[in-house]
Amino acid sequence: MRQIDIFDTTLRDGEQSPGVALNPAEKVQIARQLAKLGVNIIEAGFPISSPGDFEAVKQIAEEVRQVSVCALARTQAKDIERAWEAISKAESPRIHTFIATSPIHMRYKLKKSPEEVLEQAVAGVKLAKSKVSDIEFSAEDASRSDVDFLGRIFSSAIKAGATVLNIPDTVGYATPEEFAKFIYEVMERTEGIEKVKVSVHCHNDLGLAVANSLAAVQAGIHQLEGAINGIGERAGNAAIEELAMALNTRRDQYQVQTSINSKEIARTSQMVSRLTGMMIQPNKAIVGKNAFAHESGIHQDGVLKERSTYEIISPDSIGLDMDTIVLGKHSGRHAVRDRLTELGLEVDEKRLDEVFKEFKLLAERKKEVTSADLYSLVDTHTHDVPEITLDYLQVSSGTQIVPTSTLGLNYQDQRYDDAACGDGPVDAAYKAIDKILGIDHKLLRYALQAIDGGEDAQGEVTVSVQFDEHTVGGRGVSTDIIEASVKAYLQAVNRAFERGWISFKIGGI
Ligand SMILES: [Zn+2]
Repeated sequence: MRQIDIFDTTLRDGEQSPGVALNPAEKVQIARQLAKLGVNIIEAGFPISSPGDFEAVKQIAEEVRQVSVCALARTQAKDIERAWEAISKAESPRIHTFIATSPIHMRYKLKKSPEEVLEQAVAGVKLAKSKVSDIEFSAEDASRSDVDFLGRIFSSAIKAGATVLNIPDTVGYATPEEFAKFIYEVMERTEGIEKVKVSVHCHNDLGLAVANSLAAVQAGIHQLEGAINGIGERAGNAAIEELAMALNTRRDQYQVQTSINSKEIARTSQMVSRLTGMMIQPNKAIVGKNAFAHESGIHQDGVLKERSTYEIISPDSIGLDMDTIVLGKHSGRHAVRDRLTELGLEVDEKRLDEVFKEFKLLAERKKEVTSADLYSLVDTHTHDVPEITLDYLQVSSGTQIVPTSTLGLNYQDQRYDDAACGDGPVDAAYKAIDKILGIDHKLLRYALQAIDGGEDAQGEVTVSVQFDEHTVGGRGVSTDIIEASVKAYLQAVNRAFERGWISFKIGGI
């Protein structure tokens, strides 16, 4: 059976989603999980774009094994040099270089003639080839490009050393039948096409990213690009979990296989959602909360008698059976460590100490500590730089009083206190934080949901906050929703601080 490589761009295109800002430690954590999921290539970032991106790609290349690690670069020499610097230590490194080929992009964005674009593409691929053997070349906005020109530029890219040719539907404009025909025509016009792999990268502006990708599979391509939960620029990329499960469930139609271990899908999806702060819509295919929920009496009756009456895939097959063991306040350090290992959360002794301490605190407030809770405990410990943390919090609110919050923040062993009034207790707490730090913010989005069922469930708050021109997300978890709200805001503040988007005016920082 034909093998389809899965190229994951959660950490590059996905990370370009508005409001998403992952630090290097979080990216490494996701990359490890992607390797477990069985993707073939991880596009770890765009090294020239920022020092943080460079550092994350470098760490992933050095630490994540048994998977190809790829870095993005325009065709300029400085981009390619920087990409190579970041991935040179990878087990199997790949450079992904791109240039736009559509008339509209060449004329308005690049201000170059087709001949100049072709020349630059060849120069870029050649330079990359002098560093590494595995080169992917992308013709940006391919689906709106001239098919003859694409054939020419791809033929030249192969001669220059490209091993994978990518045909992106950058703006999500294609439709399935048309896209399949287009790919077929490009391949026909490309000299040496039998020597390379062909890839597609589809965006979801018309909700067709997965459909277009599957049409491309039927046209004979070898690699699919996408992101977990379909995150990415604008409406996002093709969702990897949907591609994998469609190819798997309908193998009779597609006659191809992938190396995805579907049992890791739920875990990967939840990790990406938690760390990016991008919630999954309940009715999202495969990984939404309702994807396996049966509401109507007739459906429930059918599923009880025979699951396959209304279920085409089983929850087990994507790894949704992980919540069978529950820990409580009598569970010891060993039990917690064993459970973490089972969940694939590797922690060293020092981290385990911290996580165990928080576990005990949580178990005091909550009867059962679920795997979702454990994930949230481990995730909050992924920062290496000094952070601002919450020391204590008091709020008073009600129907006849002005909501007021008093709180203390810790930064590098010092405590700073202040109080503020607001429109509600959360607003009051955020204003008190702003007063202490001497910053100003605009809250773009605030969402609260329960982490799992039960009356004592932890509340999970995700926020999207704007500091000047930068937008950053944050997430906080607690059995107390005001505390969760404060933690979410502080995470956004810490992320913005780490990136130099804000500075504090306390204690001479
Ligand atoms: Zn893209």
